[in-house]
Amino acid sequence: MLLSKRAEMFLPGLWPAYFSRAKGCRVWDLDGRSYLDMSFAVGTSTLGYAHPAVDRAVQETVKKGTMCSLNCPEEVALAEKLTVLHPWAQMVRLARSGGEANAIAVRIARAASGRDKVAICGYHGWHDWYLAANLNSRKNLDGHLLPGLDPEGVPRELGGTVLPFRYNDFDELEALVRDHDIGVIKMEVSRNFGPQNNFLARVRRLASRKRIVLIFDECTSGFRETYGGLHLKYGVDPDMAMFGKALGNGYAITAVIGKREVMETAQKTFISSTFWTERIGPTAALKTLEVMKKKASWEVLTATGKKIISGWKELASRHQVSLEVSGIPAIPSFSFHGENALAYKTLVTQEMLKMGYLASSTVFVSVAHTAEIVEGYFHALNKVFQLIRECEQGRNVKRLLEGPVCHGGFKRLN
Ligand code: PMP
Repeated sequence: MLLSKRAEMFLPGLWPAYFSRAKGCRVWDLDGRSYLDMSFAVGTSTLGYAHPAVDRAVQETVKKGTMCSLNCPEEVALAEKLTVLHPWAQMVRLARSGGEANAIAVRIARAASGRDKVAICGYHGWHDWYLAANLNSRKNLDGHLLPGLDPEGVPRELGGTVLPFRYNDFDELEALVRDHDIGVIKMEVSRNFGPQNNFLARVRRLASRKRIVLIFDECTSGFRETYGGLHLKYGVDPDMAMFGKALGNGYAITAVIGKREVMETAQKTFISSTFWTERIGPTAALKTLEVMKKKASWEVLTATGKKIISGWKELASRHQVSLEVSGIPAIPSFSFHGENALAYKTLVTQEMLKMGYLASSTVFVSVAHTAEIVEGYFHALNKVFQLIRECEQGRNVKRLLEGPVCHGGFKRLN
């Protein structure tokens, strides 16, 4: 179902894979074992699993009825909140998954610009419009989380409609715009590294000059470093933006927000779906927004993430292990270098699991990651880095592994 939850991505044959319960930072598997989760549900639950206030709001809504012939007022309240937080936007469409929100945004943007071609930078879901990037070369999405993907089932006629550019490579984007009739630029504000040389502002200026609709995909970056989109930090406004993941703290809700003149085009095309009108998603989002604001959760996530980053760097230097650290502070990642990189990553997951942690090489930080939990995590991780150091000095890492090495990314399951 979800690539990021595939057991083979963590610990083939040994990963617990299914859960019976989740609360705060703790997850229970089907055999009743419990773990502290340092991986954290691909980033949906920044307030912690089963947050009491959010769950209570949802339970109240369930009692009152979640669906009928009329619309729920919560969707209007949520739209108002999102446009107040992002004053450049006046209109909102709600959906339930990030991929859907991306497909909605691309449809509206293509209709608004009157041009088909989209320049992309980042991961934007599983739909045909996006995977079309790999029809001309299966390497096109290599730098965007989907290395080597074969776009089987995506109509070949879409080839050449979606063109990737590298983050911070303004010249590459400018050349795409010069050589193709680009109508839409869609990008993540920042994933692995921050903008350099005024990158975001230059993209904005280019888009405005060429009447290109600029879309920031904030499905993952939203509400982690600012109270809203990460673009608020950089002071660069897009024409449209999408939010997901953190917005509902684990309940399904995503949003597309945009400038009136762009969003109004939605009325000329057909974008509509039954369950975009159910009531649980916007109820959860409204309560999540309230709790996030009260806790200033984005500040907590960023501070904890910075501690995790410096903890990893400290371990790497203590044990003389070569390590690359990337990501915004609220979603830090590390990767090892060299031929044993994936084996070391697998070893981390295997040994941390034995010590009671669901932990790989990325942490989607949550406010449930208290200082005490982070301290315990580093105490455990220190022992694994000690092992890795021994491997660097000649010990065979494969002999330490109790199963196969984890997968490095998307792979066809033949
Ligand atoms: N856009 C971005 C930036 C994402 O990180 C993701 C999910 N990883 C998506 C879109 C797709 O969201 P979903 O998995 O909810 O369809």
